[in-house]
Amino acid sequence: MKNTGKRVDLIANRKPQSQKVLHKLREKLKKQHFIINDTNPDIVISIGGDGMLLSAFHKYENQLDKVRFVGVHTGHLGFYTDYRDFELDQLVANLQLDSGAKVSYPVLNVKVTLENGDVKTFRALNEASIRRSDRTMVADIIINHVPFERFRGDGVTVSTPTGSTAYNKSLGGAVLHPTIEALQLTEIASLNNRVYRTLGSSIIIPKKDKIELLPTRNDYHTLSVDNSTYSFRNIERIEYQIDHHKIHFVATPSHTSFWNRVKDAFIGEVDE
Ligand code: NAP
Ligand code: MN
Repeated sequence: MKNTGKRVDLIANRKPQSQKVLHKLREKLKKQHFIINDTNPDIVISIGGDGMLLSAFHKYENQLDKVRFVGVHTGHLGFYTDYRDFELDQLVANLQLDSGAKVSYPVLNVKVTLENGDVKTFRALNEASIRRSDRTMVADIIINHVPFERFRGDGVTVSTPTGSTAYNKSLGGAVLHPTIEALQLTEIASLNNRVYRTLGSSIIIPKKDKIELLPTRNDYHTLSVDNSTYSFRNIERIEYQIDHHKIHFVATPSHTSFWNRVKDAFIGEVDE
């Protein structure tokens, strides 16, 4: 049987509607001679919401240069999703015409060094947040080798531009257009009074600068990376930088502009 040569993996969440779309789309793709492949695909289609795209990203985070993603949303329009679940025929048609065009966004690299010398690295598409597990987190924050402040509070997040509309926004951070290659450092409930001082506002940090965080009181800290959470004892430092790899999406002819997505998600229709 002739095939398009394109290998596609489909990933869906457990919701009945997502499972329905998964089966429908898989059949449509097979009919058009796409190869279904869940180990080294060219294209990864996530079905569900932005949260599902995060899971798809983490499944392929070590093959970012080889894959391109497509998001199908089974609810409203999302930030990482270019198609709604009633646009499957259009999606298949666009994939048939596709010649490899892509849209790419920055990814966050997080390196955790423990006091015993162990090093763990993570990639985040939205953000990484660090908190102390029970009491106030105290940590020195260093920006581009400048000892910037001693933070006291619940914790901090470092987000990517596409992650700026997620947790970062709930914390009062700015919304960043994803063509701006920068990281955003945002505080989670900092203690500010006569004795303790932090900048208070979010900081946008350029690609060349590294953010370092050194906890001063060491015991357990909780690190959340997108939709996963890890617990660490005795962290010496955490380093945050823009990753060498970007996430690539299949360029979509009908791609909704970023500002339309922000408006659709947070504002809705404006009365004239
Ligand atoms: P979830 O708790 O099920 O959903 C979090 C919500 O954030 C969902 O509505 C999700 O959209 C939306 N979302 C995800 N990425 C987004 C983005 N880049 N821009 C705007 N909205 C986005 O968790 P999840 O679905 O696994 O997603 C994990 C993310 O939740 C984390 O990366 C973090 O950003 C966010 N989060 C937010 C808060 C907060 O705002 N207080 C607290 C913890 C975590 P869908 O419905 O389309 O999936
Ligand atoms: Mn979700």
